[in-house]
Amino acid sequence: MESNELPSFLSKIHKLTRVAKAIDPSELFEFLSKLDPSMVSKMMKMAKSESPKQLPYPDGDFYSVSEMLTPEERDIQLQVRQFMDKEVNPIADEYWMKAEFPHHLIPKVGALGLGGLTYKGYGLKGMSNVLEGILAMEMARVDTSFSTFFGVQSGLAMGSIYLLGSEEQKNEYLPLMRDFKLLGAFGLTEPDVGSGAAGGLVTTCKKDGDSWIINGEKKWIGNATFSDFTIIWARNIEDDRVKGFIVHKDTPGFTTKKIENKLSLRTVQNAEIKLVDCRVPEKMRLEKGHNFRNTSEVLRMTRAGVAWQAVGCARGAYEVAARYSQTRKQFGRPIGSFQLIQDQLAQMLGYLTAMQTMVMRLSQLQDQERLLDEHASLAKVFCTKSCKEIVSMARSIHGGNGILLENDVGRFLADAEALYSYEGTKEINSLIVGRAITGFSAFV
Ligand SMILES: Cc1cc2nc3c(=O)[nH]c(=O)nc-3n(C[C@H](O)[C@H](O)[C@H](O)COP(=O)(O)OP(=O)(O)OC[C@H]3O[C@@H](n4cnc5c(N)ncnc54)[C@H](O)[C@@H]3O)c2cc1C
Repeated sequence: MESNELPSFLSKIHKLTRVAKAIDPSELFEFLSKLDPSMVSKMMKMAKSESPKQLPYPDGDFYSVSEMLTPEERDIQLQVRQFMDKEVNPIADEYWMKAEFPHHLIPKVGALGLGGLTYKGYGLKGMSNVLEGILAMEMARVDTSFSTFFGVQSGLAMGSIYLLGSEEQKNEYLPLMRDFKLLGAFGLTEPDVGSGAAGGLVTTCKKDGDSWIINGEKKWIGNATFSDFTIIWARNIEDDRVKGFIVHKDTPGFTTKKIENKLSLRTVQNAEIKLVDCRVPEKMRLEKGHNFRNTSEVLRMTRAGVAWQAVGCARGAYEVAARYSQTRKQFGRPIGSFQLIQDQLAQMLGYLTAMQTMVMRLSQLQDQERLLDEHASLAKVFCTKSCKEIVSMARSIHGGNGILLENDVGRFLADAEALYSYEGTKEINSLIVGRAITGFSAFV
């Protein structure tokens, strides 16, 4: 046999081996034994390189954390995964690039009825924080912007009303918000007051008869360009304490402006808000929001969610990088076969697995009502910092292709930056942990 006849011969052998039962092995061996041994070895090498090797499917849940869910919870996880894969993934890059929000998805995500999943009563499901965390991870694994949109509605806005609102407010707002038929935002940060919100807000409120007059500015307020209302946190000029108000978008004196040219979470619509003599009735004040400590109760709950988001963002990037390493070839071999690439993937998976197991325990503590500020802060710091390292390595594994949006890793790289800073920067959350473990406050 001539060597140029080898490929077609091999292809026949492949077909034959697939229907191996039809082959008489003794005839095949007899045929092979007549060939020159060097020819047989050449044929074996070619056969090996031709047969597609079954490669492991990249799965960032290395320690099977999802198996800790109940069967009912697992079904909801898979439902959300399907929603993200089918509805969000195909358009995520496009909307991120346009810096627009895909409004057509709001009724679709609302139909899942997952807003305020862990809250009890008011038509809400009262499910576990573990499940809620896993869902934040599933969303961020595909699109961190979408998970932020969801978190603002379900955590920050609904959570403020659930934890601090009156019974009347809870009955009126929560069922509609569960289905995303009413959208809320959370307005704490100001142009000149970010990390220092506990030290005093510039936005003020003043009691006037049976209503309050609010004046000031807010910055970075997610979803506020289109939400029906924003929870506005303002300092009462009478006693300097912080109060929260449900301020509807049509309130005279309330205006929003979209923040343009963001490098991170571009799909999220962040707003600057101006409040000029906004009159808000007393019944729209959050009844149990007496001071900043109460605002912190909301943030403690949602910080755990941001830690889960970081896990999702990192997991998405890890899985994309692992897949890329199996297909991208250099020096005639998949880059995943190089030791230095494997070392990076193993490091990424190590961080990711530590993050996943940490947030799982965090949510268990939350389910047992044992979550402390420092627990949530430690997870927020560790997970968002580790997320930045993972997405950076994922980018590096993609070489130059890593900076092209179309290769899926660039969005994770950019979005990890906002996770690192919002809901308490790395420094502020470290200071919360530091205060708990040393007994000394080092904020100022
Ligand atoms: C995409 C995005 C979405 C957001 N969404 C919302 C939202 O929906 N609602 C809302 O209210 N806010 C929102 N924010 C605001 C966010 O919470 C703030 O950005 C964050 O709290 C930090 O405040 P700052 O940006 O003003 O930074 P600054 O407070 O000005 O901090 C600047 C730097 O100084 C450091 N620093 C500050 N104080 C100390 C200290 N005592 N010791 C050591 N270091 C210190 C910080 O860690 C940081 O590195 C969002 C922000 C982003 C980027």
